[in-house]
Amino acid sequence: MPKIISSSIISASDHQNEKPLHVYYCICGEYVLIIDKEIDYLPKRPTDRSYVLTNKRVFRFNTVDGPTVVIKRPSGFEKQCRRHCPRCQLPIAYHQNGENQYLIDGSVTLEQGGIPEGLGEHLGKQLEAQLESQLENQPEVDPSRA
Ligand SMILES: [Zn+2]
Repeated sequence: MPKIISSSIISASDHQNEKPLHVYYCICGEYVLIIDKEIDYLPKRPTDRSYVLTNKRVFRFNTVDGPTVVIKRPSGFEKQCRRHCPRCQLPIAYHQNGENQYLIDGSVTLEQGGIPEGLGEHLGKQLEAQLESQLENQPEVDPSRA
């Protein structure tokens, strides 16, 4: 069951002083992220150009937990715990040890039903590379030899 997050978050005037919140949607139209700052202003992770959501930001994901995947990087292997869209299961974001959250480049859009910029290019390539590395690395997982 996907987690349902009450929409009251949007109007709740918490401790924050009526900060405008931004709602981001998956390409399927499902809202997947509410955040206090436009993602265009967030720092980006150089490795994969994902947006870095630190704990200084106020945000809430509307996602379901996906699989933990291992990505091959030039510097070594990297574990990612994925967050997926609850409706279409597209990967939206990931985290590694629970501290920072990373929003995958091109996974969300501000307009419901809109296509995120660069989706085909980046996400397509990412998914492709991810699938490949999963296939390559699955047979023998031996952390002691990593
Ligand atoms: Zn979706």
